[in-house]
Amino acid sequence: MAEAQGNREPAAQDFHSYANPAAVRVRHLDLDWDVLFDQKILKGTAVLTVDRISPTQPLILDTRDLNIEKVETSLDGVNYSPATFTIGSSDKILGASMTIPLPAKANRVRIHYSTAPGASGLQWLEPTQTAGKKDPFVFTQSEAIHARSWIPLQDTPQVRVTYTARVRTPRQLLAVMSAENLSGPARDGDYSFRMRQPIPSYLIALAVGDLRFKALGSRTGVYAEPPVIDLAAKELSDTEKMVVTTERLYGPYRWGRYDILVLPPSFPYGGMENPRLTFATPTILAGDKSLVSLVAHELAHSWSGNLVTNATWSDFWLNEGFTVYLERRILEAVYGHAREEMEAALGLRDLNEDLATLPDPDEILHIDLKGRDPDEGSTDIPYEKGALFLRHLEETFGRARFDRFLRSYFNHFAFQSITTEQFVAYLKLNLLSKNPTLAERVPVDEWLNKPGIPASAPKPVSPAFARVEEQAMRWLRREVTAEKIPTAKWTTQEWLHFLKFVQDQVSKGFVGDRIVLSVPPGTAPPAARMEELDKAFHLTRSGNSEIAFQWLLMSIRNRYEPASPRLEEFLLSIGRRKFIKPLYEELAKTPQGKERALRIYARARPTYHPIAVASIDEVLKWKS
Ligand SMILES: [Zn+2]
Repeated sequence: MAEAQGNREPAAQDFHSYANPAAVRVRHLDLDWDVLFDQKILKGTAVLTVDRISPTQPLILDTRDLNIEKVETSLDGVNYSPATFTIGSSDKILGASMTIPLPAKANRVRIHYSTAPGASGLQWLEPTQTAGKKDPFVFTQSEAIHARSWIPLQDTPQVRVTYTARVRTPRQLLAVMSAENLSGPARDGDYSFRMRQPIPSYLIALAVGDLRFKALGSRTGVYAEPPVIDLAAKELSDTEKMVVTTERLYGPYRWGRYDILVLPPSFPYGGMENPRLTFATPTILAGDKSLVSLVAHELAHSWSGNLVTNATWSDFWLNEGFTVYLERRILEAVYGHAREEMEAALGLRDLNEDLATLPDPDEILHIDLKGRDPDEGSTDIPYEKGALFLRHLEETFGRARFDRFLRSYFNHFAFQSITTEQFVAYLKLNLLSKNPTLAERVPVDEWLNKPGIPASAPKPVSPAFARVEEQAMRWLRREVTAEKIPTAKWTTQEWLHFLKFVQDQVSKGFVGDRIVLSVPPGTAPPAARMEELDKAFHLTRSGNSEIAFQWLLMSIRNRYEPASPRLEEFLLSIGRRKFIKPLYEELAKTPQGKERALRIYARARPTYHPIAVASIDEVLKWKS
């Protein structure tokens, strides 16, 4: 048998949790909070229902900076008696353990506590940081190990829990969670939620703000602040179609509703796949649906990640590699093959950039993260290398066979958290051993355990990009002026490829302002050529966040000063780590740039999310 039956084997050691689920396992949470904006804290109780596998063992939880008031235990969930607890010493990455001895037969623990104003999993926004400017806002980001900063729990993806929550907020605000809303449409500052499917702790999510809702389909919709809601609903109108498409590919959507919450711009990620309610950055609202691959990605997590979950953060590629692969399949089905291949080509490019700079151990899919912050594992390796591995399997075994394999994989491991070893065992049993000749063509061990990518890896090619490169070369060689480049029908993806390709060529041809290679003598220095592009295409003012980001990155590299005010505005208004980290890194490459970066960061830092702050502090060696 590939799997043990029924008994919950501990999947693998999770180096990022103190918990002891093999002895005492939390299976349900009842949460109750007051959301106190003036103090920037959540204050209330968490009732944990536990299974006692080793009846004499204490319950061990993960916490970070929680203020624990008192702890009680209960045998019946009605009568509670005071209990003792000890908090271990605090580790910078892991936080502190909390050990609670349990009386015989006790199966509930009630913890009265409040969060710290600087909790790493919460971001409190002043009204000025919101679109509406009138009300404060708070949202959570629990992945990877930040749930412990707002709930005392077993913060490991191998423990799955159901939960209920009651949340009291200022009357004019609305609370939403990664759960079913039981309170109906009334906005009265008292909200109840229930999540009936067992989920890992990193998917517990809460947001409170002046939110409006608009339906997109019978089971899909969007939440956003009033100034953003109409734009968001328009941009995300293909969501229902995406859900239907994914169900056709990989089986039923099992979470009831699929809604999207568009957050204020300080959200540190593109999106977070909180079940039933994806959290998304407003920077995907480009006005032309060109950046909705993010929705395909977060939706795909409803299968890969939320349904079948990585058991430890070393298995993160099981979440993200599968999800990027699914995302591209959804894009292909909804927007066509050409769009999908452009995204795949851009993905490969990002992967190659990472492979050029990361140390060997960090290029391994099944990465060793012992002693490290799991947020550091969030490079393009688990995402793009993981997706490329699955694409290799698809191309080798054929789409029909591989799709059948994936459908059975999602069914087989539904609502479980699994390790890379469990995936490999299932893959061998259900795909490789059934087609041994084909199996020889995919070096599974090399994909999972070696740096770099195998020589036989798929190579996505985009004919549209080849045409863009031709045009770019003609412009670089001054055979055409910028206005003459036929850009009218270019998509965002073609623009991004154009800019990256031009930068590559310029980088190859220039050291500082000196021509050293293939670019013909007499070619103007980059800044002048940047100006030509800007005049023709108004790139400095681009309202598309991806294009603006790419352009600003080039502007720093080529010392194109007219983009400086926009760069500053961008860094002061957007907190998405994918954008701001490379911009600060690029600035920090010169002493002058570093000085400028520090000046901007001093103003921006209080508006960034704790996760983004941790990253940028590191880039700029910031001492607070
Ligand atoms: Zn993802």
